[in-house]
Amino acid sequence: VRGYAGKRVAVLGLGRSGLATARALAAGGAEPLLWDDSPEARAKAEAAGFALTDLTRNTAFEDVACLVTSPGIPHLYPAPNRIIRRALECGVPVDNDIGLFFQSWGGPEWDDFDQAPKVVCVTGSNGKSTTTALIHHILRAAGRPTQMAGNIGRGVLDIEPPQDGEVLVLELSSYQTELARALTPDVAVFTNLSPDHLDRHNGLGGYFAAKRRLFSEGGPDRAVIGVDETEGMFLAGQLAQGPGDDRVIRISSGTKLEGFAWSVFARKGFLAEWRRGRQMASVDLRGIDGLPGAHNHQNACAAWAACRALGLSPKLIEGALHSFAGLPHRSQLVGERGGVRFVNDSKATNVDSAAKALAAFPRVRWIAGGMGKDGGIAALAPVLDSVVKAYLIGHSARDFALQLGETPHEICETMERAVARAAAEAQPGEVVLLAPAAASFDQYPDFEKRGEDFTRLVQALPGR
Ligand code: ADP
Repeated sequence: VRGYAGKRVAVLGLGRSGLATARALAAGGAEPLLWDDSPEARAKAEAAGFALTDLTRNTAFEDVACLVTSPGIPHLYPAPNRIIRRALECGVPVDNDIGLFFQSWGGPEWDDFDQAPKVVCVTGSNGKSTTTALIHHILRAAGRPTQMAGNIGRGVLDIEPPQDGEVLVLELSSYQTELARALTPDVAVFTNLSPDHLDRHNGLGGYFAAKRRLFSEGGPDRAVIGVDETEGMFLAGQLAQGPGDDRVIRISSGTKLEGFAWSVFARKGFLAEWRRGRQMASVDLRGIDGLPGAHNHQNACAAWAACRALGLSPKLIEGALHSFAGLPHRSQLVGERGGVRFVNDSKATNVDSAAKALAAFPRVRWIAGGMGKDGGIAALAPVLDSVVKAYLIGHSARDFALQLGETPHEICETMERAVARAAAEAQPGEVVLLAPAAASFDQYPDFEKRGEDFTRLVQALPGR
């Protein structure tokens, strides 16, 4: 990290990104002051060799140049964290690792523009991880050096120094975009918008405002924007200097966008790219196992547009789409047996994402349940046509059963029984889909463990 040599910088939150921040600050000659409100996190940091500074002390912010905080810590709504509030009262600027990353990015070592590394940032309500991983996958297939970081797992300050021509692909949540003091990607992607995290952003307006900071003045050279919601349409309209401006690439899943300077859209399983009134590409997305369903076709459009903005050819991108295996726990094909496919979408922890997963397949044996959210699965009633039968597990099994009404279902309690029953009853051509529409913590530590359990059980099924 540049700009803080010889200065004291407070770091609040000692998870993966906090510790990466501490290391990067120290490497840049700063003195990091580390604290976490959780005693467990503090103990872990100390065990890893980091020294702590109690930021709750009254004098803690004397001579501090900046407070760097983690995305999980509220800084405004529903109420600011005490320490952040104290830093603000002392006039200390608040930033995060993403802001530090951009502040330190670029510089005179790359005077050759074509060789300078580029940064692509992906934000939006859904599909961020899939789109980020897909862009990374396409770049790798094209032989471009590339690294992926951000919300997808690796802290941005853990990125290795980039090589000539490298592309860094960063997934950014609304918490991360809201706080970063510098945000200057070369290509920025906004996938879609649906209500989420509204308590932390004081409503949908605040949530959208947090995400659109990625596109502010001095922002990206190229913007890829999902226009299926009015907010996206508005953002695209505001960024483009008139209809002929191809700095903005509009994307849609469902709507033809032929009249714009540059667009990529998917309809009925086909992706099309249009530029200045000419069709540049048409690609059949059906049958790509790693990208099932209209929601993944939206992700494919976003990744396609970002890679085109980076100068890759349609032919190359098309080839790479076919070899994308999907991310674990998101519409992931984990087995096939007697013509029945088994798909793990354990990440479908809410009704919205479960609806997308269900819509991706015509005949589904649906494994659902866990710790249901407010309203249960009532909102799924209109999308249950594809469900041949539901196999219900976990805490919410009985509630879900009541809400399913006429849709055939069976209470299985455990994943083991649900997989065995669904596998025994499934007919060739059907899909056994884990898309719980519920959190996992009644039976598992997290959605990953739940998905791994499903996968293990599928792989242990006897052949027929
Ligand atoms: P994020 O990183 O934004 O949470 P993921 O790619 O991890 O997104 O997908 C999370 C869940 O949302 C998965 O269950 C997936 O099936 C669903 N999903 C993925 N892409 C989209 C999309 N474009 N629109 C709506 N839902 C999606």
